[in-house]
Amino acid sequence: MSICFFEGGFRLTGECSLPVTDLVITRGIGVFDSIRSYSRRPFALGEHLKRLEDSALRSGIAVGDIVANIRQAVIDGVRRDDCPDDGDCIVKAYITGGDINDNGLFPNPRHFVIFDPGEPVNENDYKNGVALQPTMESRPYPLIKSINYLVGIMQSAGRDDVLECLYCPSGEAMETLRASFFICKNNVIITAPVGKVLGGVTRNIVIDLARTYGFKVNERPPKVAELEEADEAFLTGTWKEVLPVVRVGDTWIGDGKPGPVAARLLRLFRDSRDRWLEPEN
Ligand SMILES: *Cc1c(COP(=O)(O)O)cnc(C)c1O
Repeated sequence: MSICFFEGGFRLTGECSLPVTDLVITRGIGVFDSIRSYSRRPFALGEHLKRLEDSALRSGIAVGDIVANIRQAVIDGVRRDDCPDDGDCIVKAYITGGDINDNGLFPNPRHFVIFDPGEPVNENDYKNGVALQPTMESRPYPLIKSINYLVGIMQSAGRDDVLECLYCPSGEAMETLRASFFICKNNVIITAPVGKVLGGVTRNIVIDLARTYGFKVNERPPKVAELEEADEAFLTGTWKEVLPVVRVGDTWIGDGKPGPVAARLLRLFRDSRDRWLEPEN
């Protein structure tokens, strides 16, 4: 079951629909953010809403007080009796282009918030690690979390041996379809800087934790050629938290097994998670 905040109220998601004139349908103009809620407490809500607003403004979408409305909808939605999985759910907030394109500005956007059941990562993926499909493609406007995932999805269409694509324009490993990407060599963690990639909320928290616990973190894009010599690679993301990567294309990472740094960071992340939850009641 899934509920949706739409046009000022909560309904079943299946009962909500957008006019076919919305530019999100006709031109793919829209942004979103994906927020995890643990037992009715949204995680890092402020960070997600800030990124959502930033994505909209960078896209020319006038947000007005939409983000404040979304904030209240998220808080109200996870507390509802009909919220999926008793509020242990995934909350996706969308802002669409609306019906009007004023020379590249979108003055009259729509918004809605979908509350879906969680998308638990397969436990085997934490135990065995995942594989990625490298691609020369890049993600346009890296700071915008756009609804348009077509280019990325196409890169691994029909493949069931890889989790998702890894964007590697000009021989540099940036991020995956929907997660931040890291390598680790000799206890130095390397990941592309925000601006070349999306400011992942999980990414930023994990980097802070890593530095706090004595790791050196270099914010520069790992080169594809460095993957062969890396000890470890891993992803961060809202549902993945910290997920080990053991293969990129034909290249096995380290000894082909998940490594201790990813495991340590996952533990640190889970141990400090409550710090980022909205207050109860
Ligand atoms: C959503 C997303 C991420 C991960 O961000 P989190 O806030 O950690 O979930 C990273 N890269 C891309 C391209 C994304 O769409």
